[in-house]
Amino acid sequence: MKRKDFIKTLGGFAAMTTLGGFKTITDTLSRDDKLMPVLFIGHGSPMNGIENNEFSNYWKKLANEIPEPSAVLVISAHWLTRGTHVTAMDNPKTIHDFGGFPRELFEVQYPAPGDPLLAKETAELILSTNVGLDHDWGLDHGTWTIVRHMYPDAHIPVLQLSIDYHKPASYHYALASELAQLRKKRVLIIGSGNMIHNLRMVDWKNMEVDNYGFDWAHEINAKFKEKILNKEHPDLIDYKKLGPAANYAIPTPDHYYPLIYSLGLQQDKEDVDIFNDKYVGGSLSMTSVRIGK
Ligand code: ZN
Repeated sequence: MKRKDFIKTLGGFAAMTTLGGFKTITDTLSRDDKLMPVLFIGHGSPMNGIENNEFSNYWKKLANEIPEPSAVLVISAHWLTRGTHVTAMDNPKTIHDFGGFPRELFEVQYPAPGDPLLAKETAELILSTNVGLDHDWGLDHGTWTIVRHMYPDAHIPVLQLSIDYHKPASYHYALASELAQLRKKRVLIIGSGNMIHNLRMVDWKNMEVDNYGFDWAHEINAKFKEKILNKEHPDLIDYKKLGPAANYAIPTPDHYYPLIYSLGLQQDKEDVDIFNDKYVGGSLSMTSVRIGK
């Protein structure tokens, strides 16, 4: 319903019905307006999947704070495709898409179910492109390393939406907005990446130093946060114009695009919180965003 028509209808009802009747209408509307929060989570090292540290502890805390979702839909930095696809199998497999980590990490299984109906519905919501129903992927580490801390029982269906890596940030921002309806159905949408993600520049000797970030990382992190909190999304979409520090932070946009998805789902006047705002190894950040309550 258009806003003008809505106001007209409301006026009509208010004139015709008792105060009690009017209250029922507003109650229904406010329930309809309740949106699931949207998250952007810096996932960092795959080891966060099995470690109880300050980052994963915050993911657990967050899961207890927000309403229990009907399903979780993750846009992960680790599923880059041509075209856009959504996982549509009954039982997505746990993908161990990394090398050189302890066996314990390779042994993790996260047996959350899929939700083929929701996958179909998600595909149908997106009108700007044809979304493929995928039966081969599963849950990559951008997803399960986070979600297993949040919902350890694996009782909530988990889906992934891929990132069409041949498209620019503006395309992803617009596509994300088409998913907004899912928030009304208690679907928790999570962009999973890292705002600052330069693996070539990581200072591996100082990985364990708490909150260790290079000067340029501090500079761009402050800029990112300022623009996120002020909803200056066009500047974040046009990130290459944010200066040399942005080019260091985003040598390739795979870990940045998930943030763009989360921002594309923000409605007017929604609260935004920043959490896990820390640097790792100089050239990575765990800085994360919560949109809505
Ligand atoms: Zn990653």
